[in-house]
Amino acid sequence: MEGAKRAQVVLDRVAARLDRPFDYLVPPEFGHIGPGWRVRVPLGRTTATGLVVGWAGADGPGPVTLRPILGPVGEEPLLLPDLVAVVRYLRDQWCCWWGQAVRTSVPAPVRQQAVPPLDHLYAGEASPRGTVRQRLWAFVREHPGAREADARGATGASAAVLTALLASGALWRGPAPQVPSGSTGAGLNPAQAAAVATLRRHLDGGGPSTVLLEGVTGSGKTEVYLAAVDTVLAQGRQAIVLVPEIALTPQMGARFRARFPGRVAVFHSAMADGERVREWYRARRGEADVVLGPRSAVFAPCPRLGLVVLDEEHESTYKQEEHPRYHARDVAAERLAHTGGLLVLGSATPSLETAHAARAGRIGWVRLPERVAGRPLAAVQVVDLRAELQAGNHEMFSRVLAAAVDETLEAGDQVLLLLNRRGFAKSVVCRTCGHTARCPDCSVSLTWHREDQRLRCHYCDYRRDLPQHCPACGSTRLRSFGVGTEQVLEAAAARWPAARMARADRDSLSRRGSHERLFQSFADRQLDMLVGTQLLAKGMDWPHVTLVGIIAADLALSLPDFRAAERTYDLLTQAAGRAGRGAKRGRVVVQTYNPEHYSVAAAASQDFQPFYDQEVGFREELGYPPFGHLLLVEASAASPPEARAPLDRLAAVLRGQPHLTVRGPSPAPVEKVRTQHRCHMLIRATSRDVLLAAAHEVAASDPSLSLTIDPYNFL
Ligand code: ADP
Ligand code: ZN
Ligand code: ZN
Repeated sequence: MEGAKRAQVVLDRVAARLDRPFDYLVPPEFGHIGPGWRVRVPLGRTTATGLVVGWAGADGPGPVTLRPILGPVGEEPLLLPDLVAVVRYLRDQWCCWWGQAVRTSVPAPVRQQAVPPLDHLYAGEASPRGTVRQRLWAFVREHPGAREADARGATGASAAVLTALLASGALWRGPAPQVPSGSTGAGLNPAQAAAVATLRRHLDGGGPSTVLLEGVTGSGKTEVYLAAVDTVLAQGRQAIVLVPEIALTPQMGARFRARFPGRVAVFHSAMADGERVREWYRARRGEADVVLGPRSAVFAPCPRLGLVVLDEEHESTYKQEEHPRYHARDVAAERLAHTGGLLVLGSATPSLETAHAARAGRIGWVRLPERVAGRPLAAVQVVDLRAELQAGNHEMFSRVLAAAVDETLEAGDQVLLLLNRRGFAKSVVCRTCGHTARCPDCSVSLTWHREDQRLRCHYCDYRRDLPQHCPACGSTRLRSFGVGTEQVLEAAAARWPAARMARADRDSLSRRGSHERLFQSFADRQLDMLVGTQLLAKGMDWPHVTLVGIIAADLALSLPDFRAAERTYDLLTQAAGRAGRGAKRGRVVVQTYNPEHYSVAAAASQDFQPFYDQEVGFREELGYPPFGHLLLVEASAASPPEARAPLDRLAAVLRGQPHLTVRGPSPAPVEKVRTQHRCHMLIRATSRDVLLAAAHEVAASDPSLSLTIDPYNFL
């Protein structure tokens, strides 16, 4: 086989010793096979399936030692070039195994199930004989592209009749028909029209390939996305629209389906396998032009991808927590670099990374500064819980919030009560002055550990005793605190027994479809009040909600995470965005021990820029993103010293390297999961390449360590 091409194949099996592309010869009879094809190959004495990820260089092993591939699986490549590139990108840039990169790019049911047939019917000119045959044929002539099940259902034709017509050529199968766009949606206001015009210019190739759409909540960003998608579709290209939560898919899906009937596919992991496979192929065959879904939909196999939209781009749910630990924003940019399309990042509260890139001119920047139709932003009122305690109110609800709930319920409007439940990593707050203990080096909140009765920094392992008196005001009222949504619901039910209320958080909504039912009954006003986590603050459009209450902003503020202030600002602003989306003005009551904190103050005036100015200074000073890159290395073992040992060894090696800063190791805030003790270490570099080189070195030296580049979760 002199001169035969050599393909690099990544096997489907994920195992450390198979974690590399294997070279195989491509025999001349399979000359059409290339990157993106699935193939069967010999492996030892058995065979295996895998994905061709590229061509091997001539400097590999000689042809004598190479075995030929056995043949292709399927009649066309499974992945097109941009997704093949993404497989390599995941492995190289996010430091995962090859097998994990392939699994992420092609969902398991697609790898395991047969290719679904094209099931849309088209009819020829010649009418067949026989009454039922003729009825079926006539129906399809009238409804070209009708689904098989629909055509048979409408005409009472049996499967045998259909088979006979297919065999005779009177009918044939094809892809779904193209349906023209539906209504053009609401007329755009001038700010929206200007934003759309800018996006169109970028889509025509004149401008940066990434744009931040910074629009206050209720400014009509979705309408801008719809117009951008319309443009892309008119160019014969396709779009992916990402939402931060599965729970938001139905609402967004409804708006896109109304605008682009028959052309929207939905991707998410909670779908049944058969449905997932069908939607995947609808995208792959170009039958669906718009794919909508959470994070993983960024891998939708659209053959002519021209646009990706990340709605609420600041959400940390766009970061995958299992390997490969990618961020959907970066994957989208990588794909679009190959297909030549536009990335639109939409948010009222952009991430510091994106906001900084826009302000530095590295990406485009368009703004929608006002709500549509002249609707006012919600009025935000900050309630000082310190004063509330001083006045003798020890209840969960301040007097202001309780009165606001009374008024809202009396008016027949709806209430959301929000809690940041991730406050289970307990911090200590002074109930007299709001002071929170922080690490002197890392500037993140210290966490209270009941076991040894001490405060700890989870970045650098600094420890101290709990002071007897507040260092700021001398008060002895230092308390750790944390409440859950159950307790809030209980207190609310006791206070407002006549109100119809329910709880909505990730635990209560884990069953498939349960959030849809709950959110629908809230939208239908069968409920007066929802109590839940920040999940409720994300993107929902409930016009009858006029009051949002934040039970304790401090729970977000005191997370042991350098993004705590950013998350607090997001939570408060997004919550305010849920209030008053209908005709009536909305109202937000924020309860906190830290009313002076810049994230609370900026959110109260709903002005991103002052928050950004403060926060960006803090990030720069400490070298946190966007001014540095982070790598979180985690280890777990049966005992704390065993978990710590490999990290201590690693730290000793890395501390000697230039351009790297090492923090820790320290116990993770959630120190024990099941029987395992967890320990982690944070590594920082100013260059991503330097950090990445260190990550690959660490991964190669100790495969038991878990690595996260650009971490979002420090618990
Ligand atoms: P955002 O995503 O910025 O929070 P949406 O796109 O959901 O805002 O729009 C908020 C509401 O305003 C929606 O009900 C939408 O239908 C409506 N809307 C959007 N654009 C306009 C417009 N130009 N005129 C009137 N209503 C609009
Ligand atoms: Zn104090
Ligand atoms: Zn520290």
